[in-house]
Amino acid sequence: MIAVLATNVALAQTRPASRRATPVRNRTIANVVREIDARNIEATIRKLVSFGTRNTLSEQNDPKRGIGAARDWLYAEFLKAAEASGGRMTVEKQSYEQAKAARVPQPTIVTNVVATLKGTQPQSVARIYVVSGHYDSMCNTPVDAKCDAPGANDDASGTAAVLEMARVMAKYEFDATIVFMAVAGEEQSLLGSTHFAEQAKQNHWNVDAMFTNDIIGNTLGGNGVRDRGNVRVFSEGVPSNETPAEATVRRSVGGENDSASRQLARFIKDTADVFVPQLKVMLVYRRDRYGRGGDHIPFLERGYPAVRFTEVNEEFRHQHQNVRVENGVQFGDLPEFVDFAYVANVARVNAASLAALALAPSRPTGVTILSQRLSNDTELKWDANTEPDLAGYEIVWRDTTAAVWTNSKAVGNVTGFAMKGMSKDNYFFGVRAIDKDGNRSPVTYPKPMGRASPAPTPSSL
Ligand SMILES: [Zn+2]
Repeated sequence: MIAVLATNVALAQTRPASRRATPVRNRTIANVVREIDARNIEATIRKLVSFGTRNTLSEQNDPKRGIGAARDWLYAEFLKAAEASGGRMTVEKQSYEQAKAARVPQPTIVTNVVATLKGTQPQSVARIYVVSGHYDSMCNTPVDAKCDAPGANDDASGTAAVLEMARVMAKYEFDATIVFMAVAGEEQSLLGSTHFAEQAKQNHWNVDAMFTNDIIGNTLGGNGVRDRGNVRVFSEGVPSNETPAEATVRRSVGGENDSASRQLARFIKDTADVFVPQLKVMLVYRRDRYGRGGDHIPFLERGYPAVRFTEVNEEFRHQHQNVRVENGVQFGDLPEFVDFAYVANVARVNAASLAALALAPSRPTGVTILSQRLSNDTELKWDANTEPDLAGYEIVWRDTTAAVWTNSKAVGNVTGFAMKGMSKDNYFFGVRAIDKDGNRSPVTYPKPMGRASPAPTPSSL
């Protein structure tokens, strides 16, 4: 049954941005944000640095130095975090043998440390949110296993943020499942994250979103700019795994700016605005930094929505450098260059967003715009969600030149709605689900149903 919105074009077109619905103040999310502690993050970063190097090719059995010591320490810390979960959080070392490769001179065991906090709602438990940092490090070259590679910012910062999130969130209940992960082999070409993403694909895991946190602790850039108030969230527009058929549809109806990853990035910004006002999310509409990559990419390549968190101004003298002083300038990724309070704020944005995702219903599926016949209205349809706490849905829209959703309308617990007098030619539309506590899902961008022919017929011209 399609409900009809009786509005007029003038009203719809002049609605101010303030009509945009923001996430409700949720007590669980507010508690999680408050409990994240910069002192724990500092202690983790200093501990990880103390292993001398965490190069993936370094010693795996020395209890003091090398990636094996870091792996075992992280495993024990995640186990401690799990104690507060009442058995809902399990921790494992996910290992495989990496064959010889460009940056792997001999077969090497790569181990991810994975803590899984099981969801508590049966209809949502299979929906998985993954947050990661990489605990491996490097100095000048990724194949030097002996040099000191403190990796305080790249990427003990991201690893420490993930461990702190696990510690804080373990005692709270979420509908869906959250995976807190420290991966290895990032500097060897995203090995650990690729292994996890491939396991997810082979086992048909429903990874609904993935965040990587990589280089999230330096607030004084190589450009001399100090920025403690912003964090970049990178999201791709056109999906990395888009098929030729999907590209054909996209060219016909638009959607270059509306991948699931971009909806995820917008969701993170909306959530941060409410729960972590001290840190602004700077949306970057690009898969990663210019020509560069990270652990979200193996997920994107397998069709999982994913984004990357990184500080705003990088300092390249403190990344991938042998620790040394040259002409009075300190090189190397040392803890004295990490802003621990800033890392904590980035962790808060992550944690608030993960909590909001895992408390909310899933993104609506089967969302389509009816286009069999030409019309100045926009008719949307979608499949019913299955969560028992579902309250209904919202239609969102924006001008085609707008960067984020600017308007929303609650339409009740229906599976279709017509936006009268609003042409799908002139706006982008989306649909999100909302539960009885007011938790909103990310937006689903519709596919066309019916007429969306790549080769317009004479009657449609
Ligand atoms: Zn990194």
